Amino acid sequence: MMIGRIHSYETMGLHDGPGIRTVFFLQGCPLKCLYCHNPDTQKFDGGREMSTEEVVAVAKRYKPFYRRSGGGVTISGGEPLLQWEFLRDLFQRLREEGISIALDTSGYGGSNKLTSYDETNKTMGPTSGYLGELLSYVDHLLMDIKHVTDSKHLKLTGKNMEGTRDLLRELPDFHGKVWIRHVMVPGYTDNKKSMEALYCMIAPYQNKIEKVEILPYHKMGAEKYQELGRKDPLSGTPPMDVDKAREYELFLEKLLEAREALRTG
Ligand code: SF4
Repeated sequence: MMIGRIHSYETMGLHDGPGIRTVFFLQGCPLKCLYCHNPDTQKFDGGREMSTEEVVAVAKRYKPFYRRSGGGVTISGGEPLLQWEFLRDLFQRLREEGISIALDTSGYGGSNKLTSYDETNKTMGPTSGYLGELLSYVDHLLMDIKHVTDSKHLKLTGKNMEGTRDLLRELPDFHGKVWIRHVMVPGYTDNKKSMEALYCMIAPYQNKIEKVEILPYHKMGAEKYQELGRKDPLSGTPPMDVDKAREYELFLEKLLEAREALRTG
């Protein structure tokens, strides 16, 4: 039995993977995305402890909904990979229950230079080689790509793209479906050049990609920054125009379709 730190969970989720889902938000994140709308998930020692058994017991209650809708459990965060040992145990148990698994991650840690959080010593420590094994249990990988170059990624999240690259490297062997997710922020990522670079990044894995989502930046996290006594890093940035974000999403879809048409002749 493993103990994890869970920020919260939501039942009857409809957006984080196919069908009806129970979504568990894990506590802790090594990134500091300027647009983070859940800044309360970032610190490592928040949330509450739950054992893998407890999480599975919650998930099991909704099995009939999963069956009828093609849903399951989604593990999100924060950055869930920080608690990869907990996830490994959890995924094995969910598998035994026949529950479909989606993992919502931006790849931080990473497969070979993962930093995991040591609950006892309150430190980050290196580990390795876990990512491929974890993904072998996952049916849907919701891959959150923040930006398209190291320098811009660093500016937007506080880290370079190492985690993104580690996750991309796992995709050729990944047996499930991938949803690419990208938050579009005015003045940061709302331009064609970024979309073209994103296309170049994901196109080699097209046969695994089931969906591409351009998620418009919104201001719903502003209150949480106030509650935490922190300044909202994007307080001066307007929300992303929803129609414009959808246009970029279609642009990306069309590029991928054109590539597929060329590939298959
Ligand atoms: S990855 Fe970014 S948006 Fe997600 S919890 Fe971490 S800081 Fe927030």
